[in-house]
Amino acid sequence: MDSPDMISVEDALERILSYFERLEPESQPITEALGQVLAEDVGADFDIPPLDNTAMDGYAVIAGDTTGASESGPVRLSVAGELAAGYLYEGSVASGSAVRIMTGAPMPDGADAVVPFEETDEASTGSASGGGAPQPRTEVQILKAAKPGANIRRAGEDVHKGDMVIPKNTTLNAAQIGVLASLGKAQVRVYRRPTVAILSTGDELLDVGEEIAPGKIYDSNAYSVASMVREAGGIPRRLGIASDTVEALSAKLREGLDADMLITSAGVSRGDFDVVKDVLAKEGEIDFWTVRMKPGKPLAFGAFPIEGRKVPHIGLPGNPVSSMVTFELFGRAAVHKMLGKPDWERPRISAIAKERITNTDGRRVYARAIVTKEPDGTYTASLTGPQGSGILTSMALANAFAIVPEDVSAIEIGDDVECLLLDG
Ligand code: AMP
Ligand code: MG
Repeated sequence: MDSPDMISVEDALERILSYFERLEPESQPITEALGQVLAEDVGADFDIPPLDNTAMDGYAVIAGDTTGASESGPVRLSVAGELAAGYLYEGSVASGSAVRIMTGAPMPDGADAVVPFEETDEASTGSASGGGAPQPRTEVQILKAAKPGANIRRAGEDVHKGDMVIPKNTTLNAAQIGVLASLGKAQVRVYRRPTVAILSTGDELLDVGEEIAPGKIYDSNAYSVASMVREAGGIPRRLGIASDTVEALSAKLREGLDADMLITSAGVSRGDFDVVKDVLAKEGEIDFWTVRMKPGKPLAFGAFPIEGRKVPHIGLPGNPVSSMVTFELFGRAAVHKMLGKPDWERPRISAIAKERITNTDGRRVYARAIVTKEPDGTYTASLTGPQGSGILTSMALANAFAIVPEDVSAIEIGDDVECLLLDG
């Protein structure tokens, strides 16, 4: 069964990844940087918040003025003015007076506490401008004593000027994009996203939108693989469909040589016209051909030399499930390496098999499975139905691969099975 050039999944991955490097850094608008890896340490040029400001809508006061205030014995203060967020108070708060102030507004000089509306007579009588024509208040009754510093957000309490806020090599999430914005950064240095050129081969293929014809099928691989490229953080570029001739294929492939990686599907299996292999052998270099896995045994890998560099090429098998499984294991890893992401591996868990999963020929089986968390907290795995490598719906239903090792002939019902989780 074994052919001498059949290699393990681990060997294949190592050889493939040896052809890829992290790409160069580039500046991106922060709106485009989500999920990319930071190529610089980002520091703060100023404090956030920049000034002491109020955390509540209320009255900025001198805390000492409110000593002893209670519902039954309120302290009356004169209202010296009003301040909205975004403005500075001109002047300073003198003893016996208060400034009506809105959340986020900088603290007026002189004041050292904020009494929220709820602790003033404004809670019962409504705001100065509530209902009818706005009537600026001239006086407020404080119903509760304030401690110095109450309801004040201090300058720099979030970020201090000079701090290193987000270190290089961070994979940017939504909150970090927000932090970058709060630091005033419109652009950020991240490692470039790889472009992945995707070519489908086969005389039987039609593109979606074309009319179906006898003997033909629609090209699904280009679309599933392009989606996986995008999900991994790469930029897919579909080159379309090449017919099963060396000339057609090499002409189409040339259109993809400015990409960071080439992906073809089909044309690599025994008994096929083997055009992908022929083109690689003629114009590029071939690294290996078969991997001890199922589905996905016929996998081509090589590189096309162009202008002093090499464009790595993964030749995926044609069967729709096989192409997705092999892209998941190898192509996705390559995209993550180019993006500079260290922890690209999907989580793996141990689940209890609810079905028998067989391994007929000593290859590692990646069975399409549904992993369920049971009420008792354990995980179970069942198959998505018939496992033929042409049955793409078996993949569409799966949230995991249940893995049968090379040296295990079957996982029995009730056995533990290792599962690679596809959606986190
Ligand atoms: P091959 O690797 O060329 O022998 O193809 C294996 C099987 O996959 C055949 O049944 C092909 O029709 C099918 N196939 C090849 N390419 C695609 C594709 N892009 N989309 C859907 N099915 C495909
Ligand atoms: Mg074919």
